[in-house]
Amino acid sequence: MRAAVYHGPGDVRIESLPDPPPARSGDLIIEVARAAICGTDSSEWVHGPLLARPPVVLGHEFVGRVVEVGSEAGGFSVGDRVVSGAGISCGRCEWCLTGRTNLCASYETLGLHLDGGLAEYVRSPGFVCRRVPDGVGDDAAAMAQPLAVALHAVRRSGLEPGQACAVIGVGGIGAFIVAGAAARGAAPLIALDIDDARLATARRLGATVTVNVRERSLPDAILEQTDGEGAHVVIEASGTAGGPAAALRAARRGGRVLIVGLQSAPRELDLFSFTVREVDLVTTLAHVCDADLPHALALLDSSDLAEAVLDRVIALEDLVADGIRPLAEGSARGKIVVAP
Ligand SMILES: [Zn+2]
Ligand SMILES: [Zn+2]
Repeated sequence: MRAAVYHGPGDVRIESLPDPPPARSGDLIIEVARAAICGTDSSEWVHGPLLARPPVVLGHEFVGRVVEVGSEAGGFSVGDRVVSGAGISCGRCEWCLTGRTNLCASYETLGLHLDGGLAEYVRSPGFVCRRVPDGVGDDAAAMAQPLAVALHAVRRSGLEPGQACAVIGVGGIGAFIVAGAAARGAAPLIALDIDDARLATARRLGATVTVNVRERSLPDAILEQTDGEGAHVVIEASGTAGGPAAALRAARRGGRVLIVGLQSAPRELDLFSFTVREVDLVTTLAHVCDADLPHALALLDSSDLAEAVLDRVIALEDLVADGIRPLAEGSARGKIVVAP
């Protein structure tokens, strides 16, 4: 089979590999229809290996048809169209037993630690897979995993319907977070970015206010939209050095700051301001298959969000030139989906 193999920084090769061996007991063998890429893939390509264990087939966002069902992968049949979660948890540790499978003590991720879906075939455990509703096309279904990550983030933010929510950085995962916050009933829903095209997409996804922060102060823009009090929930998804401090300044008394964007170095934060205004600082990582993947599929089924974020569909052979490179350089307009 053809597959995109990550060997190290600047080194992703499209290679011929043997097809996966027969399915082990709990596994499905999936013929991949579409696999999407994200900043995780491009950061591994630029700065890696960060999380990846090369050589490994990339791809942690994918959909396909089941071609083989392991003896204990109950509930699936050959021909089923499924999406797979990315993280594989052990099911036995303290975190798994309390439903926080994304924090599993022996968590492994498809496409980083184990061969992933940027290939013609992939092996995935049945317990992280979910059947795709007929109304959700393959391009959209390839976005179920990143949308699940975003919905997990919104859940962690504690956002309630009718509360003011600001999302800083609406490219990549931020766009999906806007969609999730809109579905949750945020009002106003303020999207902030330095790119007008990304802001236009955010508006289509349900942002009620969009602000280009090249032109103005980010906290001021949020305060202005919230009667000077700040947003109930500020979601920092830009990963920029100044993002967390700006998020804190724009949070309401008793509100919450959620850190989604990964910071590349320690940052200074005014914790006095957190304490005297009782602002909660929360974080989020990946997703929980049982809770977030079905929710993502339902939202894809009931909205045109996939259409709004889709940039292009490319061939596997063009993965680096037309996918990973534009993503790394910031010239991708939205989600890039690969047809293996
Ligand atoms: Zn991703
Ligand atoms: Zn575990």
